[in-house]
Amino acid sequence: MNPLLSTGWGLTPFDSLQAEHVGPAVTQLLAEAEAALDRAVSPAVAADYDALSLELDVATERLGRAWSAISHLNAVANTPDIRAAYNEHLSAVTGFYTRLGAHRGLYAKYKAVAQSAQPMSSARRRALTNALRDFVLSGAELEGEPRERFAALRERRAELSQRFSERVLDATDGFTLDVGPERLGGLPDDVISAARATAEAAGVSGHRFTLHAPSYLPVMRHAQDRELRRQMYTAYVTRASERGDPAHDNSDIMAEILSLRQEEAQLLGHATFADLSLVSKMASSPQEVMDFLRDLARRARPQAQKDYDDVRSFAHTHLGLKDLQAWDVPFASERLKESRYAYSESEVKSYFTVPRVLAGLFQINETLFDVRIFEDRAAVWHPSVQFYQVQRVTSAGTQVVAHFYLDLYARPGKRPGAWMDDARARWQRPDLPGQTQTPVAHLVCNFPSPQGDRPALLTHSDVITLFHEFGHGLHHMLTQVSELAVSGISGVEWDAVELPSQFMENFCWEWDVVRGMTGHVDTGEPLPRALYDKMLAARNYQSGLATLRQVEFALFDMRLHAQPRAGVDAAHIQRVLDEVRQEVSVVPTPDFNRFQHAFSHIFAGGYAAGYYSYKWAEVLSADAFEAFEESGVLNPQTGLRYRREVLEAGGSRPALESFKAFRGRAPRMDALLRHQGIVAAQPNP
Ligand code: ZN
Repeated sequence: MNPLLSTGWGLTPFDSLQAEHVGPAVTQLLAEAEAALDRAVSPAVAADYDALSLELDVATERLGRAWSAISHLNAVANTPDIRAAYNEHLSAVTGFYTRLGAHRGLYAKYKAVAQSAQPMSSARRRALTNALRDFVLSGAELEGEPRERFAALRERRAELSQRFSERVLDATDGFTLDVGPERLGGLPDDVISAARATAEAAGVSGHRFTLHAPSYLPVMRHAQDRELRRQMYTAYVTRASERGDPAHDNSDIMAEILSLRQEEAQLLGHATFADLSLVSKMASSPQEVMDFLRDLARRARPQAQKDYDDVRSFAHTHLGLKDLQAWDVPFASERLKESRYAYSESEVKSYFTVPRVLAGLFQINETLFDVRIFEDRAAVWHPSVQFYQVQRVTSAGTQVVAHFYLDLYARPGKRPGAWMDDARARWQRPDLPGQTQTPVAHLVCNFPSPQGDRPALLTHSDVITLFHEFGHGLHHMLTQVSELAVSGISGVEWDAVELPSQFMENFCWEWDVVRGMTGHVDTGEPLPRALYDKMLAARNYQSGLATLRQVEFALFDMRLHAQPRAGVDAAHIQRVLDEVRQEVSVVPTPDFNRFQHAFSHIFAGGYAAGYYSYKWAEVLSADAFEAFEESGVLNPQTGLRYRREVLEAGGSRPALESFKAFRGRAPRMDALLRHQGIVAAQPNP
């Protein structure tokens, strides 16, 4: 009995799933999916959505669900056997989906469905439109030489992105700085011992610092030795550039990646890569994004200027730094922050116990979204994992609408970070008429586990992380859409996906909510108001500067990809960045700074012509939350409207439509600026 094959669409029996089950299951499910694809494109299957779905979606969903369970186990309960099994089958599975996505016969079939006069629901119409769009973006319309060129471009681009990251990593690893004890002033003890251990491991005396974040960041923030900061800063901001080892220089790679992207966009009929990137996003044009970023920069600028002036005068008066340099800014900022808002993280932590926080989180959901959350039983991969069911009370009685696994604690073999994953999605299954498959979510965090019989304690930022992931979970679990491809988070535009998650974070900054979910681990007392006020003040420290920094990166990214120009070089890239800094930044950047040579988000990650999404989604989530502030943050009517228009609608319609249906108007950035304590310049008339 193979648990990956024997459970139908029920829950995966994680307690009996072993590495030895992976191979046979994946082989069988892939063969079934391949056979289904062959039949789906043959004349035996009519150009009819249900017929196609019954043949193909049933098979690919089964494969996808099994592979999701395997990937999940690989991420949260990694063993050498699971990892080997996962790696062995990864390329076969991704290869199948890549072929499926650009399959010409299947594309033709979907086009025939779209051209037939079949009546269909708006959700299904949306799923079909998305499917056709994705075929086009995967090159399914290209024939002959352009088709080959397209495939070659993609392959070369993947190779270059990989090399870009490798060079950043090699350049990061390629620098170390060994210093004696006289240069360690100001550094925290744990950073000093880590530097000592790194030196020892390398067989040198003294303390060794590196450009990896756990070593680099504390030096920039805390080292009193100005020359030490300057050396580290200089090495960090010139990584992978022409100012370092030529073997690690990313100059040519960046230029080639941009050229290939431009060529790819033109092959697919778009003027620039930015236009191509936005086809599947909520923002409608590069111009709209750039206008948005410039407006945000203009409105945050006075606050940013004040942030910078404050730190400069503090550095002058209290630290004796007359000419504040780039390598002084983080150090001086930390000192100013301490002098204004010092409070103890560990004191805060003793008020946030996991049981209290969970009870508070669930209660908000019960109040706002008219659901009930109960602990339930299921086979899990570790004894600390909990399982819950989500119920809705309707006129027809109580209904279980979703389940979720909650895996809160860090442990060996578990990947760091926090995320929500789709274990099963809502779907009116074509193979079981009248049956609706309910969603199941994985909510994963990496909090420190409880010690002895004391409950686990969370920092306030841990609590925010939990709320964030739970917001993604709600989007996945409360959907009422029955079309697999657009239910829950599926089919939601990339730059709108973070709306429900960031939305939930806002509750962690509401005094009544926070107070209700705190209780001191020893005394049970709620968080004192005075302590909360300090946290709140510290929250928005230098938010003007932080906003402009994000705008600088985003505008650089968008401008770089929004010009229909072939044959760019590293000098051109530098020029664009210089212009953006000239326009946006209030903090001077040294001439030798080569930030762009290590900007992996856009050269090696998925954020090309998409970096703006961070701020874009923040505007949406802050503005949505403002509706709750207007009506009382725990107002059930507002909650139900949000559930119906945003959470339930999922990907079944454009995110802008959902937003407007909830808010009654287009998004505005005022709420975000206000939440971040930015006293903003007036909006454009
Ligand atoms: Zn997120």
